[in-house]
Amino acid sequence: MTKLFHDAMYDPSRPLDSHWEASAGNPVADCDPVDGDVTCDVAVIGGGFTGLSAALHLARDDQLSVRVIEAVAPGWGASGRNGGHCCFGGAGLDPTEIVDAFSEEVARQNITAQREAIEFVADLAISNDLDIDMQGKGELCVAHTRKAMDELRDETAMWKRLGGFDCELMETPEVHDRMYEAPNITGGMLFPFGFGLHPMKYSRELARLAQRHGAVIHGNSPVTGWARENGKHRLATPTGTVTADKVLIATNGFTRDDLHPATDGCLLPVISEIVATRPLTDEELARHRYQAEMPLYDKRPMFAYYRVLPDRRIHMGGPGGMTGTPASKERWRSHHEKRIATIWPEWRDVEIEHCWRGFVCLSSDKLTHLGEVPDDPGVFYSLAYHGNGVAMASWSGRAIAGLISGRANRAIPATMTQPLRPFALPALRKFHVYKRYGLRMARNLLGIG
Ligand SMILES: Cc1cc2nc3c(=O)[nH]c(=O)nc-3n(C[C@H](O)[C@H](O)[C@H](O)COP(=O)(O)OP(=O)(O)OC[C@H]3O[C@@H](n4cnc5c(N)ncnc54)[C@H](O)[C@@H]3O)c2cc1C
Repeated sequence: MTKLFHDAMYDPSRPLDSHWEASAGNPVADCDPVDGDVTCDVAVIGGGFTGLSAALHLARDDQLSVRVIEAVAPGWGASGRNGGHCCFGGAGLDPTEIVDAFSEEVARQNITAQREAIEFVADLAISNDLDIDMQGKGELCVAHTRKAMDELRDETAMWKRLGGFDCELMETPEVHDRMYEAPNITGGMLFPFGFGLHPMKYSRELARLAQRHGAVIHGNSPVTGWARENGKHRLATPTGTVTADKVLIATNGFTRDDLHPATDGCLLPVISEIVATRPLTDEELARHRYQAEMPLYDKRPMFAYYRVLPDRRIHMGGPGGMTGTPASKERWRSHHEKRIATIWPEWRDVEIEHCWRGFVCLSSDKLTHLGEVPDDPGVFYSLAYHGNGVAMASWSGRAIAGLISGRANRAIPATMTQPLRPFALPALRKFHVYKRYGLRMARNLLGIG
């Protein structure tokens, strides 16, 4: 099997050092490993947002018997480790590229799905009283050059033309007065949709909700074998087997190439790394007149996403390197530390308390993929959210549940129903990031440069 990263990236016995894990409260109860030979209508491999959302909808709306088979615990993958920016995204193509590759209509469908995805998470949380620390409204992109500000102007016009909504452009004094005051800001764009949340709390609350509606969740149950028997799928784990009519692959960036031929060589995991500081004091917050509640990112060359959390910790994420070695984690930690000092010089000495990382997941055509394996009926997948799966994986879990049960479903954009294709020379796929995504994107994703 192709091994793309250091073992440390896959080893559940290594402490993650995630702030989310440290602050999420109790793990989900009743997640015993598979015990003996059990059966169900649908087996879901992977207990992140995709798998848990699918399990919830299959159990609640379709009254199917569902078992989530998770290698470690609900939220152990990217879902419990991410930035918690519940925002637009999913594909690695922007709307104008989708217009070029498909059509204006498909780009509009895609935008609609992204809006729905954010509303879906908010509605799910509010209507089920989920404790997920929702924070802020919208998403702020900060510019630090005139050129970047011009790009935001163009982007605002693009969203109006294709999405039919307004983004708010702000000049420097307005950013300072309403968001925060810091050097070199040339303006910003406030995107109207999105909010922040606590991703591990959300993962666990989603798991508990699915359980309340009848889904069974097995933790510590990596799927290690897959056989077909009498038209059914038999999944092997170290402590037992699960036999199911249908299977959903919801393993995203943690998918091992040998899990199923349909995904072999088709997914490119990319490391994203996050740091969280100790909580800031009132006096420290005042030094940058910090008031922004919503998630933020900026247009500096190396991609970074950040916010000040409800408990006032600075939370910053971005690239995490190409290897996954423990030494590379430390190098990237110091990169994020410097980035904090660049953005907010007054906070340069605020100690980092947690540093962790995980895999986001890219596909060879930069699209999210959701569907049924053509030559293996009954096997479904929903994968590749390009680092933006908080909203989109949740939405896709519901959408794929509809495809699995055959229930009437909401429109799935044509961008998501394209066949899943392998990377050329899959063993070298890390380097495809250059070719497929361009040098600048590769630098953003892999941190080269
Ligand atoms: C550091 C980081 C920051 C991010 N920030 C953001 C953000 O701010 N906003 C945003 O929208 N998105 C963000 N993302 C992306 C987002 O987290 C993912 O797109 C989303 O969580 C994907 O959910 P998932 O359920 O598909 O996959 P995952 O949450 O990765 O879950 C896959 C699960 O499958 C399990 N698994 C794998 N193989 C097997 C097997 N053989 N048997 C059983 N189980 C198996 C794994 O243990 C894992 O729990 C970030 C990701 C990372 C890593």
